[in-house]
Amino acid sequence: MPNAMDYSNNSTPTWCPGCGDFSVLRSIQTAAAHLAIAPHQMAVISGIGCSGRISGYLNVYGFHSIHGRALPVAQGIKLVNPELTVIAAGGDGDGFAIGTAHTVHAIRRNIDMTYVVMNNQIYGLTKGHTSPLSTTGFVTKSTPYGSIEAPIKPGMIALASGATFVAQGFSAYQEQLVEILTRAILHKGFSFVNVFSPCVTFNKTNTYQWFREHLVNLDEMNSHDPHDFQSAINRYISTDGLFTGILYENDDPDYYSKLPGERGTSVVHQDLDISNQFDTLMQ
Ligand code: SF4
Ligand code: MG
Repeated sequence: MPNAMDYSNNSTPTWCPGCGDFSVLRSIQTAAAHLAIAPHQMAVISGIGCSGRISGYLNVYGFHSIHGRALPVAQGIKLVNPELTVIAAGGDGDGFAIGTAHTVHAIRRNIDMTYVVMNNQIYGLTKGHTSPLSTTGFVTKSTPYGSIEAPIKPGMIALASGATFVAQGFSAYQEQLVEILTRAILHKGFSFVNVFSPCVTFNKTNTYQWFREHLVNLDEMNSHDPHDFQSAINRYISTDGLFTGILYENDDPDYYSKLPGERGTSVVHQDLDISNQFDTLMQ
């Protein structure tokens, strides 16, 4: 049975001491170990930002892609290598500013992979300016009088985009985060996991203490049924998005299982005749 360290490449992360991303890294490693995924059967594709460094710290295939484009790269990798466990990872700015369209379309496409957003509600790598997930009134160098914009609600976007798995974790609740990531990987379809991952250097508002005081744990609510879409919407609204646990999941068929012909087979192994497509393109 592997352990989490089998998925470490022994590189020392350059994250600030206390950054929430350490816990996300260890949680991915631990979930992979629980599922005994062979390192050569796994790929982690990241975007740009402090969190984007995560793909360089794992002993699995990795690709540090470009800003907001982790999902297109990850989907391409999964489509041609469907046997791989694919995880895309990035920050809130990466996934909900420059990459928003990719996030929405990847969710609705429902390819069998996991997307982890390390959400610190700020741009950390570029020294702390307001992100689309920063709360109204948030003061940074880019909004010295407080942000006047309303923040994006990532879980609501996921639900509205047809997500088949929506969950939230918190870096300080590592046991729950490992459980969420394990179930996300096992889910047959696109799994969206928003992780509150505090930026201890620049975000002095949404701190570990702040999240401990505000987050509701869905695992402790017997009344929460993650298979009920309407209930998921209501729960999101009633908690103002401040919860951890699995909000929603369903068994809708994933992208591959809806493909005509031989299912779940790598496209590079299929006998494709694309000559006609080239002819069409050249006309
Ligand atoms: Fe983490 Fe913030 Fe430091 Fe970046 S700046 S490594 S997000 S604590
Ligand atoms: Mg961020």
